[in-house]
Amino acid sequence: MTNSSNKNDSWGTRTIWGGEEEYFFQGATQVPIVHSVSFGYEDIDSWHDVALGKQKGHIYGRNSNPTVEVFEEKVRNLEGAEAATSFSTGMAAISNTLFSLLSPGDRVVSVKDTYGGTNKIFLEFLPRFQVDVTLCDTTDHEELEKEIARGCNVVYLETPTNPTLKVLDLKRLIDAAHDAGAIVIVDNTFATPINQTPLTLGADLVLHSATKYLGGHADALGGIICGTAKLINIIDHFREINGSTLHPMAAYMLLRGMKTLYLRIKQQNESAMKIARFLESHPLVEAVYYPGLESNEGHDIARKQMRGFGGILSFSLKGGMDAVRMFLPRLKYAHLAANLGAVETVAAPPRTSSHVECSEEERAAMGIPEGLVRYSVGIEDTDDLIQDLEGALVDLNIKTDHASDSV
Ligand SMILES: *Cc1c(COP(=O)(O)O)cnc(C)c1O
Repeated sequence: MTNSSNKNDSWGTRTIWGGEEEYFFQGATQVPIVHSVSFGYEDIDSWHDVALGKQKGHIYGRNSNPTVEVFEEKVRNLEGAEAATSFSTGMAAISNTLFSLLSPGDRVVSVKDTYGGTNKIFLEFLPRFQVDVTLCDTTDHEELEKEIARGCNVVYLETPTNPTLKVLDLKRLIDAAHDAGAIVIVDNTFATPINQTPLTLGADLVLHSATKYLGGHADALGGIICGTAKLINIIDHFREINGSTLHPMAAYMLLRGMKTLYLRIKQQNESAMKIARFLESHPLVEAVYYPGLESNEGHDIARKQMRGFGGILSFSLKGGMDAVRMFLPRLKYAHLAANLGAVETVAAPPRTSSHVECSEEERAAMGIPEGLVRYSVGIEDTDDLIQDLEGALVDLNIKTDHASDSV
């Protein structure tokens, strides 16, 4: 976790050179994948100094690794943080962070629309350790401010949210949290540092499921958290002991994916905007959820705090789940799967992916229509994607007419 910063460079340059300014082992221009579990020392005194953190180096692979360290450095650079530490998955980043910072009697304030796994930690696990969790209506900023002001230790935010792309006003909630003396954690997975940097708005910690956009190729799991050295040291220490270490092979694949992060996000932002406008004007589409649309409730806040609106949108079809069941398999250019943020377009109904564990009533209470489709735009040609959607909707039109005729 060196501190060489080229913060003034532009995003495309930082995604390439961040953490990789110098040649590696024997002049290798590309990061070596160091699979060694341990690191040997002829000199017992330097071994001791490394162990005490007085000298740079590695001792044991659960604690640190040269390949993993380069990945941490690249994301640290992009988020503009003092320090970063990585994990085997995004959920490991989230759970290790919460369990290392919270103690019995503490209180967390968050929103109802966090990622499904995070929601499970809040409702199933933290209460067992006497941590009180209050989940507010996601866009009710007044309720959030009121609950934060009642006193809390951690304010946990995620924006835009999954799957309806709600937007939280980060600056406003961070200020409220700091007035109450709370630490603010932001899940920045959907936005990526290219579109949004919560630390520059005052957040204490920013985390990612690197499995999604950072890696970008849906072939490696990983997680990372960035923030002040003081907080990262606490979390890193817990992670070392808990053992949810990022594998060096995964770190390499994530790093390789990150070299195109800026190009991918630029393309995905543009495509998602065009696709959102296309869908908004389609007669069989009931509603489109995308913060880039002027009609979207979160548009003004998104414009204030994001440099781009992201590559994920969702939309509901007239005809509900029956229509979705016919529509999705007709898409030629989309994996029907649970991941997102990949180079390929991925489409999924929340009721079989992110919110499979909720009942229909719970989904309705969260404002998730049964006929919703989450669409993670890949880097395919935008016109091909629009044609693909258009074609699938034309077929759907015939089918729905048939279905209603026969009733
Ligand atoms: C996928 C995801 C996670 C969890 O990450 P894993 O790498 O699957 O553990 C957390 N937050 C968000 C917003 C996600 O999309």
